[in-house]
Amino acid sequence: MTQDDKLKIENAVRDILQAIGENPERDGLKETPDRVARMLEELTSGYHDDAKVHLAKTFDEIGSDAVIEKDIHFSSTCEHHLMPFFGKVHIAYIPDGKVVGLSKLARVVDVYARRLQLQERMNAEIADAIFDVLSPKGVFVVVEGEHTCMTARGVKKFGSKTVTSATRGEMPDSVKAMLFSQNGMND
Ligand code: ZN
Repeated sequence: MTQDDKLKIENAVRDILQAIGENPERDGLKETPDRVARMLEELTSGYHDDAKVHLAKTFDEIGSDAVIEKDIHFSSTCEHHLMPFFGKVHIAYIPDGKVVGLSKLARVVDVYARRLQLQERMNAEIADAIFDVLSPKGVFVVVEGEHTCMTARGVKKFGSKTVTSATRGEMPDSVKAMLFSQNGMND
């Protein structure tokens, strides 16, 4: 982010504070525009990151049917309200010769979470990146998200989750069930 962009955000935040009837100069709010600008830079750092880079280093697969990585925590920003949504991503793929280090899957999640997002699109982008780069037989990605734009306003109860999934290629139901069954889908 350039200094110019940062100043734009700071000025906009000051305008918002004034518009809601606040005094941007009072002690508690003086540093807020600067904090918001730095926070937004971090929350949107995924625009300058590339999933392909994290998936580039692969290993020869040694005969596993499925690779499953569960409970990858994420925090993203809803593009409709600029409010956080957060939760867990679960990934399963059936390798076809290539696997990646498990930490790389978490990096891929961050690449797409640190942008303005819709849960459905983030879900699809994670699945597409793994499918396109690793060329597995199949990939299945589940996202469980709590959307503060809903829960903070009382539209939905706190703790209510939105669950989405995306499949690319072939994925046996038995593997899909492993992502769903142990994740408190019914709690
Ligand atoms: Zn929203």
